[in-house]
Amino acid sequence: MDIYNYIDGEFTLPISGNMLDNLNPATGQIIARIPDSNNDDVATAAEAAKLALPSWRGLTKGERINWLNKIAQALEERSEDIAKTESMDTGKPIALARRVDAARSISNFRFFAKHAEQLTENKFTMADATNYVIRKPVGVVGLITPWNLPLYLLSWKVAPALVMGNTIVAKPSEMTPMTANLLAKTLDDLDFPKGVVNIVHGLGPSTGQAILEHPEISAISFTGGTETGKIVAKTAGPMFKKLSLELGGKNATIILDDADLETAATGAAKAAFTNSGQVCLCGSRVLIDAKIYDAFVPKFIDAVAAMKVGNPDDESTDIGSVISQQHMEKVLSYIELAKQEGGTIAHGGQRIIPNHASLQNGSFISPTVIENLSISSRCATEEIFGPVVTLHKFDSDLAAIEMTNSTQYGLAGSIWTSDTARGKQLAKQIDSGILWVNTWLHRDLRTPFGGVKNSGVGREGGDWSLNFFSELSNICVKDD
Ligand code: NDP
Repeated sequence: MDIYNYIDGEFTLPISGNMLDNLNPATGQIIARIPDSNNDDVATAAEAAKLALPSWRGLTKGERINWLNKIAQALEERSEDIAKTESMDTGKPIALARRVDAARSISNFRFFAKHAEQLTENKFTMADATNYVIRKPVGVVGLITPWNLPLYLLSWKVAPALVMGNTIVAKPSEMTPMTANLLAKTLDDLDFPKGVVNIVHGLGPSTGQAILEHPEISAISFTGGTETGKIVAKTAGPMFKKLSLELGGKNATIILDDADLETAATGAAKAAFTNSGQVCLCGSRVLIDAKIYDAFVPKFIDAVAAMKVGNPDDESTDIGSVISQQHMEKVLSYIELAKQEGGTIAHGGQRIIPNHASLQNGSFISPTVIENLSISSRCATEEIFGPVVTLHKFDSDLAAIEMTNSTQYGLAGSIWTSDTARGKQLAKQIDSGILWVNTWLHRDLRTPFGGVKNSGVGREGGDWSLNFFSELSNICVKDD
C-alpha cells in the first residue's frame, strides 16, 4: 500500500518521488510505503495552508464547530479501522488501540467542539472606555507528533487548531503514518475545505525541520523527545514562532506506607507497562516506602507477571511489541546497562519471541522490573521509553519528594495512599505538570497538560490549547 501526502485536498506523491518503507513492528513486515518529503513538499503544503486561511478563519466559530463534530462522527464510523490500523502500525494490542487510541482520537474532536462553544469574549470596562479582548487565529500552524499515540496526539492538536481558525501543516512520525492518512481520507470523504489540513509525511530531520524553518508557519506544536525539542526550540525560537513543547519524562510512582497494596500494585503495573511503557506519562520509577517494600514488591511482580505479552491481534493481550527493532535494541541495551550499574532483574529482562509464525521477527520485550539501582543511575534517570521499571526504597515522604524531583524531567507522577489529603499535600511538592493520587492516566480534557523542566514548555488541554492556537488582541474603545 502506498500512502501519499495530503496537500490542498489532493493525495500526492512527494516531488522527489522518493518513498520510505513503513513496517509493522510486531511482524517486521513492510506494510506501506510513504513519501520521503522534502522542503519543496513542505513549501507546497504551507502555500496551500496560507491560501486556505482567509476562508477558513472567515467561517463563524459555530461553522467550524460543526466541522469538528462532522469529523468526529466520520471517525467514529471508521473507529474499528482506526484501531486495527493503529495496532498494525505500532504493534500495540488491538484492545488498547480501541480503548485508548481510537476512542480518544474521536473524543478530541468532540471535546474541542464543545469546549470552544463556551469561549466568551473578555470585556474590561473603564470609566471612559471599554476594552474588548478578541481572539484571532495564529495563522498557518505546524504540528509535529510522535509514534506512541499517533492519531490520539495528532487529533489533540488538529482539533483545537481548526476550531480557532488556523490552517495546518502536519507531520506524523515516519514510523506511524497510517492513521494520519486515515484522517486525510476522512476529511476528503467529507469534502472538507481544501488546503485547511495538509499532511506531509517524511523524516524528522528533513520534513520536520522544513516545517520548523518555513517562514509562513507561525506556530509549532511539537510532541516528542527532549533532544528533538531542543532542535525545535533552537530553530523556531529565533524566528519568534509561537511554541508548545510536550517532551519526555521519567515519572515516579510513589507508594506510601499507608497505601492499599493490592490497588497500588495493580495501578503501578498499569502505569509502568501500558503501551509497552511507551507513554510519556508512564511511571518508570516506582518509589516505595521502606516499611512496606517487602510486602509490596511480590504483589507488584504478580501484577506484572499477569500481563499477557504477545500477539497484538489477540483480544486478551496486554503488552504488544515496541515500536521498532532499533527501539527494542535500545531498550535491551538499557537492561544490560542496569546490570552493569548493579541492578538485579526481578522480572523479565529479555526479548520475547511469541509462539506465532508471523511474529518471529517482532520486537517484543518482556515487562522488566529492576531492583537495587541507585536513584541517580543512568537507568533511573534517563528516559528508556519501553517496558522497563526500576524500584527504589525511601525512608520518609521528604526523601520520596527529593528522589522524585532528582531528574531533569517533570512531566507526571502518581501517589498511592489511603490518606488522600496526605497524597495531595505531597503532590504539591513535586516538580511536575501532572500528578495523580490513587489513579493514573485519568484525564479530564479541560485540565492543563504539560511538563516542567526538560519535559516541556507550555500547556495543552481545554482553554490552554485554545489559547495556544489563538492570538489575543485588545481593542480599547473610548466611550462617546
Ligand atoms: P522524536 O522526538 O524522535 O520525534 C517526534 C517527532 O519529531 C516525529 O514526528 C519526528 O519525526 C520529528 N522530528 C525528529 N527530528 C526532527 C527535527 N529535526 N525537526 C522537526 N521534527 C523532527 O520522539 P519519538 O517519536 O521517538 O517519541 C517519543 C518521545 O516523545 C518520548 O521522549 C516521549 O516522552 C515523548 N512524548 C511526549 C509526550 C508529552 O505529551 N509530553 C507525549 C508522547 C510522547 P520522525 O519520527 O520521522 O523522526
